[in-house]
Amino acid sequence: ATTTATATTTATTPAPTHARGTDRVLTGDRPTGPLHLGHYFGTLHNRVRLQNEGVDLFLVIPDYQVLTDRDVAERLSDHVEGLVLDYLGAGVDPSRATVFTHSAVPALNQLLLPFLSLVSVAELGRNPTVKDEIAHSRQSAVSGLMYTYPAHQAADILFCKANLVPVGKDQEPHLELTRTIARRFNERYGPVFPEPRTLLSEAPLLLGTDGTKMSKSRNNSLALKASSDETARLIRGAKTDATRLIAYDPEHRPEVSNLVLLTALCEGRDPHEVAADIGDGGASALKAAATEAVNTYFAPLRARRAEYAQDMGYVRELLRAGNAKANEVAEATLAEVREAMGMFR
Ligand code: ATP
Ligand code: MG
Repeated sequence: ATTTATATTTATTPAPTHARGTDRVLTGDRPTGPLHLGHYFGTLHNRVRLQNEGVDLFLVIPDYQVLTDRDVAERLSDHVEGLVLDYLGAGVDPSRATVFTHSAVPALNQLLLPFLSLVSVAELGRNPTVKDEIAHSRQSAVSGLMYTYPAHQAADILFCKANLVPVGKDQEPHLELTRTIARRFNERYGPVFPEPRTLLSEAPLLLGTDGTKMSKSRNNSLALKASSDETARLIRGAKTDATRLIAYDPEHRPEVSNLVLLTALCEGRDPHEVAADIGDGGASALKAAATEAVNTYFAPLRARRAEYAQDMGYVRELLRAGNAKANEVAEATLAEVREAMGMFR
């Protein structure tokens, strides 16, 4: 299946089509709600592909990060368990992946201290993703965590020395910071960390039903686990434009093109071809096609998720095992870091 797509690949971070045997992949999702189609086509699909090619896959659930843009973290455990179900439904193999919550890994969190010393306040302040998130935040005051979480994310990635990070486009500035931190640490104290590469997908920025980035917390997302009816209702309400002739033109017609791309991704087709098929059927024909494509593609995933949901004891066990493994890895890395920095032993 080839989709040519939005072509938002970056020159600075060439995406290898195949992982090398030595790759260690880390990526993750905030426990703020159910995963959506943006996650799936932006990163989850790549994670599962890499896992199936045999790489070491670490999935972080950064629970402290929930507090970047809200005062209290609500329904944390529910969201964490829901994420694990979404992973399993999407094809993450519990025997090959390490899934963990970063709050349960003290040695990982301790890396934040030296890491913060390696970046300037100005660098933290000019991060475009942080600025966008502040603009969409409902908080009146911006917390220190909002500015420092990208350095925390560097700890999430570097504690296990990951060298490949499959993410959506919003994460590029954060990955740049991670590379900066790794490089400066190595220059200052000796070689400990890799400089991880970013892996973008062919849909690095899927839009939500309101035409802005699909996000768990913006009330604009199509959840992976949604029912067929719910999916139909949400797509029916999606923002489009008034031009009857459907075309794939992300720059000039972002909302329409987003639905075309979504259909193309689900059907494994070229978006231009999908648009040509719909022709002058207008938004209603496009929405019908998108609904059909999404519901068909995700039916097996939803069924698998529902099966795993029968046994939440298993899901919790998986997290406990993942946390134990992450702690082992983090303690080993922290020992190296303390040694490199000349801390008392
Ligand atoms: P929140 O609104 O709570 O921030 P989110 O939907 O932005 O949730 P995150 O947990 O912040 O999701 O992001 C997890 C991963 O999914 C990141 O790699 C991010 O780049 C990717 N991702 C999130 N939204 C999209 C999207 N709309 N298109 C492509 N990738 C996305
Ligand atoms: Mg986000």
